Amino acid sequence: MHYGQAAFMLSAVEASHFPADEGCEVAFVGRSNSGKSSAINALTSRRALARISKTPGRTQQINFFSLDEQLRLVDLPGYGFAKVPLRVKQHWQRLIESYLQYRSSLQGLVVVVDVRRALSDLDRQILAWCRVSAIPAHVLLTKADKLSRNAACAALHQVQAAMNDNAVSGDALPVESAQLFSATKKHGVDELRDRLDQWLGQKKKEKKSPS
Ligand code: GDP
Repeated sequence: MHYGQAAFMLSAVEASHFPADEGCEVAFVGRSNSGKSSAINALTSRRALARISKTPGRTQQINFFSLDEQLRLVDLPGYGFAKVPLRVKQHWQRLIESYLQYRSSLQGLVVVVDVRRALSDLDRQILAWCRVSAIPAHVLLTKADKLSRNAACAALHQVQAAMNDNAVSGDALPVESAQLFSATKKHGVDELRDRLDQWLGQKKKEKKSPS
């Protein structure tokens, strides 16, 4: 897939503004400041495709980027701003929920988490929606360059252990895969592209095969 070809399509503040629910797309979600914009920019080898905005009120929109006529990347609004008014939080929740639950072209969700922080309650809520909607999730542990190699690997293993925890408790994290990532050092970009290729390519093949 040629992620460098990504082009901005539109910003949506409600579901009626989403592009037609056709083809395939992969979405990115994460708390604000987790490194989501930097990850999208590194993935697409662009300096400012996903704007790096720190203004809470402005982030309540879903941005769609086209890779080709059938494939899209989707930047979901960041969450976790402490000072955001309740009505903004409620709008965020409705918007993300309507996207995750009803978007049939969605092939997978990249959940962006700062490697130095544990998964937040909102990260877990998003993953619970993924489980309900049978959407595969990939956890991207960003800013790995800020930790020693050992500490970064330990954080990855912790997430992986939580993913495989269901044998006994039945409440494993509904996550398909996880990886370390650094936008600054461009580490993990190929691994992320491989994951997206699988999600986007798989569906293409399914669609092409004779029924
Ligand atoms: P967003 O709010 O989730 O879109 O996060 P941004 O992409 O805007 O990143 C938040 C801050 O973390 C910015 O100051 C980035 O420069 C920094 N940042 C993002 N990714 C990395 C990374 O891989 N390594 C380091 N050291 N800093 C990063």
